[in-house]
Amino acid sequence: MVQRRGSDLTHHGPVRTCIGCRARTLPSELLRVVVVDGAVVPDTRRRLPGRGAWLHPDPDCLRNAEKRRAFPRAFRVQGSLDVERVRGHLERCWEVGRGIAPGPAGSKEAGRPVMSQP
Ligand SMILES: [Zn+2]
Repeated sequence: MVQRRGSDLTHHGPVRTCIGCRARTLPSELLRVVVVDGAVVPDTRRRLPGRGAWLHPDPDCLRNAEKRRAFPRAFRVQGSLDVERVRGHLERCWEVGRGIAPGPAGSKEAGRPVMSQP
């Protein structure tokens, strides 16, 4: 067990390291990803069990992570992992964030529960 010292960021709460650019930041800045059936999938609700890795929701960080083989290392697996679902997720987020694609309009419409009358 190695004691790590000198990480100032820990004073502000938990931090995570982006496996793409290695920057340490708050979990709220990052996307959690997990492996399901040999594929890396975005865990947007942070509810999936198992080992997670953290990545900026930025295609550049994904590319970096792939280039550095950060995914297999983060998940301690041999060989490569399929990241297509993460890529798709990031491309969607990225385009929405830059205003290229429309947001998920209507998906969060105020819920009007439809009561079925007896
Ligand atoms: Zn990053």
